[in-house]
Amino acid sequence: VRRLETPLSASEGHAFHGPHVDQHAGSAPERVRWYPFTHVVERPRVLRWTCECRLTVYYLLAGGGRAWVRRSRRRALLAEAEIAESDHMKYRDAERLWVQILLGRAQ
Ligand SMILES: [Zn+2]
Repeated sequence: VRRLETPLSASEGHAFHGPHVDQHAGSAPERVRWYPFTHVVERPRVLRWTCECRLTVYYLLAGGGRAWVRRSRRRALLAEAEIAESDHMKYRDAERLWVQILLGRAQ
């Protein structure tokens, strides 16, 4: 397996408690197109994730030469999560999207 020479290759610093998504107070966030969880990639790797203490948790996944963001959203703590995924894209684009989501600039 080729090791990626991008920041996506490690999840250092977030092993137990991921970052929180910023509450972005500025201009309206970019709208991500979310799709139902139907695009199957065998054994995707989870590269990053946001803190699971929130009802909405984002994961940065990679597999099949692409990367994408998965969103898991609950209405309440014990409610079933609704899973949605972004487009599958080049690593660089997925990395950019991940940062935008963390900064609260995309949702
Ligand atoms: Zn937390």
